[in-house]
Amino acid sequence: MLPLVALVGRPNVGKSTLFNVLTRTRDALVHDQPGVTRDRNYGVARPEGRPPFAVVDTGGIAGQEEGLAGATARQARAAAEEADVVLFVVDGREGPSAIDDEILVWLRRTGRPTLLVVNKTDGIDAQQSLNEFARYGLSDSIAVAAAHRQGLDALLARIYSHL
Ligand code: GDP
Ligand code: MG
Repeated sequence: MLPLVALVGRPNVGKSTLFNVLTRTRDALVHDQPGVTRDRNYGVARPEGRPPFAVVDTGGIAGQEEGLAGATARQARAAAEEADVVLFVVDGREGPSAIDDEILVWLRRTGRPTLLVVNKTDGIDAQQSLNEFARYGLSDSIAVAAAHRQGLDALLARIYSHL
C-alpha cells in the first residue's frame, strides 16, 4: 500500500487545487463555491524520480456538525486518521479563521503528523502570512501558491520527510 497524504482544511482554501497539482489530474472539482467537494477523493502523486504516494482530498470542514456538513467533516476526520501526514491547508490571504482554529483542535486529537500549508501566497508577503499562523504552534509549515505551482518542490520535500 502507498503512503497516504490527506488534504484537510475549511472550504475554499485551495485543497482541490493542490490535489490536482500533486496528482496532475483534474479529478478534483475546483470551484469558487465553498463546499463543492463532498466525498473523499483519492489520487496518486508520482513526482519524477521519487516514490509515489496516495493523496486524499477532503470536502472541507465548515464548522457545522449537522447534516451534510457533519457527514463531510466526519469523512475528513476519517481521512486524517488514516494518513501518514496531514496537510492542513489554510488561506494565506485571509489569515487564521475560527474554523481553522476548530480544525486545529481536532487535528491535534488525531495525533497525526501535520504540515501547515499556507496557500494563496502569490503576490503577497509569504513570510508575513506564515507569521500570522505562528500561534498554531505547528513548527512544520510552508507557504505555497498551489494555483501557480509555487513552493511545490519545497512542499514535496516536506511531505517526503514524513513518509
Ligand atoms: P477547496 O474548497 O479547498 O478545495 O478549494 P479549491 O481548490 O476549490 O479553490 C478555491 C478557490 O481558490 C478557487 O477559486 C481557486 O482557483 C483558488 N485558489 C486555489 N489556489 C490558489 C492560489 O494559490 N492562489 C490564489 N490566488 N487562488 C487560489
Ligand atoms: Mg475542494
